[in-house]
Order: sequence, then C-alpha cells, then structure tokens
Amino acid sequence: MKVAAYAAPSATEDLAPLDIERRAVGDNDVLVDIEYCGVCHSDIHTARNDWGGTQYPIVPGHEIIGRVLEVGKGVSEFKEGQLVGVGCMVDSCRHCHSCEEDLEQYCEEGLVATYNSEDKISGGITQGGYSDKIVVDKDFVLSVSEKLDTKAVAPLLCAGITTYSPLRQWNVKEGDKVGVIGLGGLGHMGVKLAKAMGAHVVMITTSPDKGKDAKRLGADEVLISKDKDAMKQQANSFDFLLNTVPVAHDVNPYVALLKRDATMVIVGAIAPLPEIHGGGLIMQRKRIAGSLIGGIKETQEMLDFCAEHNIVSDVEMIDMENINDAYERVIKSDVKYRFVIDMKSLTQ
Ligand code: NAP
Ligand code: ZN
Ligand code: ZN
Repeated sequence: MKVAAYAAPSATEDLAPLDIERRAVGDNDVLVDIEYCGVCHSDIHTARNDWGGTQYPIVPGHEIIGRVLEVGKGVSEFKEGQLVGVGCMVDSCRHCHSCEEDLEQYCEEGLVATYNSEDKISGGITQGGYSDKIVVDKDFVLSVSEKLDTKAVAPLLCAGITTYSPLRQWNVKEGDKVGVIGLGGLGHMGVKLAKAMGAHVVMITTSPDKGKDAKRLGADEVLISKDKDAMKQQANSFDFLLNTVPVAHDVNPYVALLKRDATMVIVGAIAPLPEIHGGGLIMQRKRIAGSLIGGIKETQEMLDFCAEHNIVSDVEMIDMENINDAYERVIKSDVKYRFVIDMKSLTQ
C-alpha cells in the first residue's frame, strides 16, 4: 500500500514529501496509524549521513505512537483501536544469544532498525515514522497506557529506553549521585528517570540558561561543564555518569568526576572520541562503557514504569512541514526538550 511520508532525498537536501510503499499486512503483522512521531538527533545524523551508510531517499523517525488499524491472522496480542508504540527496531534474527536473552538491540546477525536497515521481509530499506502508517511484526510492537499524554509518550520509545536501560544495567539506586551530561531529548529523560529511581541527580550542561529547567525536570543540582572550578569541586564524587553529548568531544573532564570504580556510559557520540588519558581511568579504576537503546522486553518495562510514575517527555509540537527548521534548532541545542510531529499535519 502507498502511504504519505517525509523523506531526505540526499545528505544535503531538506526533507520533502514522498509517497512510500508499505508491505501488505502479513499473519504476524500490525498495521499502525501513526499519530505522533518524536524527532531524535539520530534522525538528523542519518538524514545527513553523519555516520555514513545512509540509503536515500530515507524516511527517519523511530519514536512512533499510533493506533492499531488492522492485525494479521496470527496476532492475538493487539486489537484494532489499541494505542501502541514502535521504537528503534522492527526485527532481529530471534535465535542468537542476544535475541534469546531479550537483547535484540545487540542481535549478532544485526538488528533491523526502524529506518535505514535492510528489510528482511519485503526487501529494500526500512522506512521510519515520519509517515502516515507503518506495518510492523507484532514482536516489535509495544503496548502503551492510555493514562499518559499520548503525544508526550512518543519520545519514550527512543530517548526513554536509551536512558532507562543503562540506569538499570548499572543498577542505579536510591541515594546514588548520578550525573546526566547534555540536556536534550535523551538528557531530560535521563534526569526524570534517574530521579524516579531515587538518585541524587546532577544535570551537567554547557548551557547555563537551562539550569532552571533542569531543576524543574527533577535535577537536584546543576553543574556547568565549562566552569572549571565548579567541575574541580565535584571531582571524584559521582557514582554514575550518563553521557548524551551527540558529537565527538573531550571526555577527560567528565572522567575526572567519577568516583573510584564508577562508570560513565556513552550513549550519545557514535563517533571516534578524541584522546582519552589512560591515567584518568587507571588511578581510580574508573570505567567508560557504551549502551544501545534497550530490548523489547525492557522497553515495555520502561513504558510501564513511566505509566506508574507519571513520566512523559517535555515536548514541542510541530507540523510535518516544519521538520527542517526543527532539525536546525536541535543542532543548536535549542529544543525543550523533544520535538514531536503531529502526524495529522502530514495528510491534511
Ligand atoms: P539532543 O536533543 O540534540 O541533545 C544533546 C544535548 O547535548 C544538547 O542539548 C546539549 O545539551 C548537549 N551538547 C550538544 N553539543 C555538545 C557539545 N559539543 N559538547 C557538550 N555537550 C553538547 O540529542 P538527543 O536526541 O538527546 O541525542 C543525543 C545523542 O544520542 C545523538 O548523537 C543521538 O544520535 C544519540 N542516540 C543514541 C542512542 C543509543 O542507543 N545509544 C539512542 C538515541 C540517540 P546542553 O545544552 O545541556 O549542553
Ligand atoms: Zn533515537
Ligand atoms: Zn539475533
């Protein structure tokens, strides 16, 4: 079936309308009528080929919320009209060690991302959520509570799980001192989730003017990373750091903040990091690690956790046609704190 979408025609052109083909609903498929789609910085990295390997035209979008329009014969988990979500993955091999451990994001045969992956079912390239409808295997569809503000739930599908998963994996608990680096889409979810887990949360930002907001979002303290004296005062004091900075950057000043044996998890910069001083790690047995989104089971757990704790994203709503301006604002770190596209604007 043909559906309306917005695609990047190349790395250097603006996104523009494009009709794309979605596969017919198979036995295990769910057809979702997309209501909202969040705008992740990864959409921009992909549209502009920052990571290489983008296949054009590409329809970004992996923070998808919508209602079920139709289900295949083999689907009993979802019903027509149900509120559902689709995040960063739409398929995986299902049988490797990672898939068997509910860690499809680390699928050893390669996860099928919601956009810019080889589509194993219909061939071609997967196309994401900046579109009217999407067809997804039921195993990669999440159920979403009707209790929360639907449009503000969309960013949980990427920004939420990408921050929730490392907080859980590194066992962040009541009283831990947690630093979240970068107050954007991921960072603001990191603050809310770490706070809900009982941590003492410090927002570490390059933007002094975001300080007030950081406190409103739940941060107990704000640390301006450009203030060398303030950074020195907090040296060796953090139990955990979540680094959401979207580009290559000097991580040494952040490593200095960690306590002995503490870890900084990089989720933002999918890029070579400039020189890391071994001494900064060795002297206090510090660690740097990475983390990719979260598995489907954990994503459902995160959505349920957010419903229980009343956690949603702070969103700025946009119409589809304003996507290119939104991209420019994200790049300038000027978004409070996630753009979400109202998908009605695509077809009206
Ligand atoms: P975003 O909304 O642009 O937020 C990033 C924030 O980082 C900015 O608001 C800014 O916060 C800070 N920042 C920007 N440039 C910086 C610099 N040069 N030095 C220090 N801080 C800087 O982006 P996002 O959507 O949260 O995504 C963040 C990154 O995570 C992107 O690269 C995205 O591709 C990646 N990502 C990874 C995963 C994963 O699974 N690992 C999943 C989703 C996204 P302040 O103004 O507060 O400094
Ligand atoms: Zn994302
Ligand atoms: Zn696998």
